[in-house]
Amino acid sequence: MNNEAIFKFRSISENEAFARLVVASFITPYDPTIGELTDIKTVVSEAVTNAIIHGYDGRDDQWVHMTLTMQNNVLSIEIRDEGLGIADVEEAMQPLFTTKPEMERSGMGFTIMEHFMDAVEVISSQSKGTTIRMSK
Ligand code: ATP
Ligand code: MG
Repeated sequence: MNNEAIFKFRSISENEAFARLVVASFITPYDPTIGELTDIKTVVSEAVTNAIIHGYDGRDDQWVHMTLTMQNNVLSIEIRDEGLGIADVEEAMQPLFTTKPEMERSGMGFTIMEHFMDAVEVISSQSKGTTIRMSK
């Protein structure tokens, strides 16, 4: 059974929980293990948090876009913002790299995404926004 779902939601931190629940509901029919469910909710949380706090720098009236696809038992997740973008993607993806140390960010979001998913792709353009594509 293949499926696809597209959402957009406002850039408020409460929607991190919303996005986690949505992805959990989306994959439930495919009988994920508890571990898989936890991992996938975690990576969605990381990507949505990044869109809100970095992409939109905390502005709460912007859109975060999420596309979920299940095709031939491969889950693909796309999280997109139209925010500030990333100056140097390679640098941003290094473990412990953060541009917000003052917010007690640890710089581990991308590392977690790469650890839990089979593939992570980051497409970003300064002042245009960032798209994260992940699959497992
Ligand atoms: P943590 O996720 O551990 O709380 P972090 O968010 O700083 O800390 P990462 O998620 O790995 O760490 O992101 C690394 C850096 O990449 C961020 O500090 C930020 O500069 C940049 N970044 C990540 N996502 C975005 C985004 N959607 N828009 C703009 N910049 C981003
Ligand atoms: Mg992060």
